[in-house]
Amino acid sequence: MATDKSPGIAAFLSFLLPGLGELYCRMPLRAIPFLLGELYFTSLFFSDFSAVPLRFNTLALFASIMVSVTSVIDAYFCAKQYNARHLLVCPRCGGKNQKGAPQCLLCWAPLSARGAPPAYLPARGPPPSPPGRP
Ligand SMILES: [Zn+2]
Repeated sequence: MATDKSPGIAAFLSFLLPGLGELYCRMPLRAIPFLLGELYFTSLFFSDFSAVPLRFNTLALFASIMVSVTSVIDAYFCAKQYNARHLLVCPRCGGKNQKGAPQCLLCWAPLSARGAPPAYLPARGPPPSPPGRP
């Protein structure tokens, strides 16, 4: 089977740690802002702002939660994007194949860039009668 990234798993990983879902989808450049943002706002949250009139800890916590939520949503779409880029769904059996694969791994239907040629698709009615010869 070709590598298939689950949007649910990606979202859950980003819920555990922002950026982790993006890493799971092999998009490290997209993970870095979430990881750094979370690190920054979390450290800000735990720092001492007792001397500051406005409590920045609350703002930092809010920003940290926003980073988490954004990362979860982003990871979900990262997985969808990964699958669209790397997978080719067989039009005959629905099996997921690596893009560029010459044949379906499950039913051996030949695959082109657009999918299997119509001759290999299951018949949806009586087969067409052969053309009559003059
Ligand atoms: Zn197939």
